[in-house]
Amino acid sequence: MGCSVVALVRCNSYDPDETAAAVERGINLLGGVSQFVGNSKKRLLLKPNVLWGVDPKNCVTTHPSVFRAVAKVFQAGGAELLYGDSPAGVTAVGSSLKKAGLSEIASDMNIKLADFEGGRPVTFEGGTSGKNFFIANAVFECDTVISIPKLKTHGLTRMTGAVKNQFGCVPGMTKGEYHARYPDVYDFSNFLVDITRYISPELYIMDAVYAMEGNGPQSGTPKKCSLLLFSSDPVALDTIACRVIDLNPEFVPTVAAGVSAGAGNSTFDKIKLVGDPLDQFVCPDFNVVRKPPVRVPRNRLFIEIRKHFTSRPVADKSLCIRCGRCVEACPVNPKAVVLGKKAQKPRYDYGRCIRCFCCQEVCPAKAITVEDGVLKKLFPFASFFALLLSNYYSKKKR
Ligand code: SF4
Ligand code: SF4
Repeated sequence: MGCSVVALVRCNSYDPDETAAAVERGINLLGGVSQFVGNSKKRLLLKPNVLWGVDPKNCVTTHPSVFRAVAKVFQAGGAELLYGDSPAGVTAVGSSLKKAGLSEIASDMNIKLADFEGGRPVTFEGGTSGKNFFIANAVFECDTVISIPKLKTHGLTRMTGAVKNQFGCVPGMTKGEYHARYPDVYDFSNFLVDITRYISPELYIMDAVYAMEGNGPQSGTPKKCSLLLFSSDPVALDTIACRVIDLNPEFVPTVAAGVSAGAGNSTFDKIKLVGDPLDQFVCPDFNVVRKPPVRVPRNRLFIEIRKHFTSRPVADKSLCIRCGRCVEACPVNPKAVVLGKKAQKPRYDYGRCIRCFCCQEVCPAKAITVEDGVLKKLFPFASFFALLLSNYYSKKKR
């Protein structure tokens, strides 16, 4: 694959005028809106990251200002716009978009809501994780997709960005089925790359004006990065986003999966940066886990080791409101998390838990955090070697 271009544009706030100018500049750096809207590409789907709908001030979702600015540029370029996202868990699409502050803008700008509730089976011969996928109808209602991810930490994939944003094009609870089908984060990343290649968004615009660090993807803390990133290559864009948060892109399985599937570039000799200098935006103190995720072993002994060593979700009873969303979202059968009638918080079965962190993602009370396994806390060095061995052994088995 040839060289990829990533545009970096400073944007210090979500002030509508500043954001609009920054978005316009970024798109112009990539050749202008005509690159993405042509005679055969008039209906564009805007795909922000909405999660399950959180107030924009929490910086968990694509900010409405960025959404509005992107919509404005493409409408001025003559496109008809649709929008939407399929939230995590059982949350309805409409209420999520409303909470995220997007439906009001869409209604003002006459942007139609696309169908993210229903979907259809598709065959993708080029898939590496499989050939058959289930994709939201929204994707087929448009000529092309403009993906608008948020830069955030993520318990499963370390960071979530351009590649992972397409997971929202898998409707509703079907997402959980994919987590269960691909319990290993590296297999799951191959799947994410497959659906990204199938959907093939024309452009990715990442909102990192305020990113989210810490307990991602929804219970972390806003972190000002003052940046919007633009690219047609999702792997290159995520690679540069990793540099911004001072995370080795090799620790992000979606980047590695993207490179091996030929979906994009991750090395500086194949990425051309345009716009503002990268150095201005690097945050060495960004709170993110700076180590690679652990493979799910297939050997019983290593499954036992992993259970005690790897990070896992933990619920805080002082914060838990007993809503049961974590249990609903858990994709494994039988559930790896249960909430008894009289229990003050959910109880985990770490032997069953595949560490997808869906429970953490949907918890409305920020009651679930990611903690190291008990043995890892006690023997950090021993755990390092045990996990290396586990990764090596699992890789060999594959
Ligand atoms: S308990 Fe949480 S992390 Fe474990 S499998 Fe269920 S949803 Fe995923
Ligand atoms: S941990 Fe969170 S999602 Fe689970 S029951 Fe408590 S508040 Fe609800």
